[in-house]
Amino acid sequence: MVKMYGKGLWQGLAVTWRNLTRRSVTAGYPDVEPELPPRSRGVIALQEENCTSCMLCARECPSWCITIDSHKEVIPAPTEGGRDRSQNVLDRFDIDYSICMYCSICIEVCPFDALHWSPEFAYAEGDLKDLTHDMNRLRTWMDTVPPPQALDPGADQGKELQAYELTRATEEGL
Ligand code: SF4
Ligand code: SF4
Repeated sequence: MVKMYGKGLWQGLAVTWRNLTRRSVTAGYPDVEPELPPRSRGVIALQEENCTSCMLCARECPSWCITIDSHKEVIPAPTEGGRDRSQNVLDRFDIDYSICMYCSICIEVCPFDALHWSPEFAYAEGDLKDLTHDMNRLRTWMDTVPPPQALDPGADQGKELQAYELTRATEEGL
């Protein structure tokens, strides 16, 4: 059998040549913004008005990175003889992104559509402590949440979409 000297070298050079002529797949971030799909899991936004402090998201979160505090408030009955109602009022809603796995479980389990994905991702910090976003900061991400996908032709408009449009119209003072 004839031994071919330098075969490995030629194979290596062939790989180098192939990759030299191939289009680059890397992006020059932060100079060049990446083009991400609109439904990328960037950051979780909180729609505070929808949250009932039911704690489902905090209990189901596998990383235990959601902290919620709330208190009860009594709403007097609107008419005489009616019953007073009580409702939870949110005092604190924090997400610690230094341990979040971006698994989306909190968003899936929320029964009231209070949590949404925003594609924003540029919130790196120099200190781990600053990766905990409080409810005010989580609220600001709502402005970057893409609108829900279009329904099939002929389908009824879902309750979520109605609530979304109502919130946007209220915020924009329409
Ligand atoms: S995405 Fe997953 S890990 Fe992150 S807060 Fe939600 S449930 Fe927790
Ligand atoms: S599951 Fe939804 S409604 Fe319940 S505490 Fe979490 S965000 Fe609020």
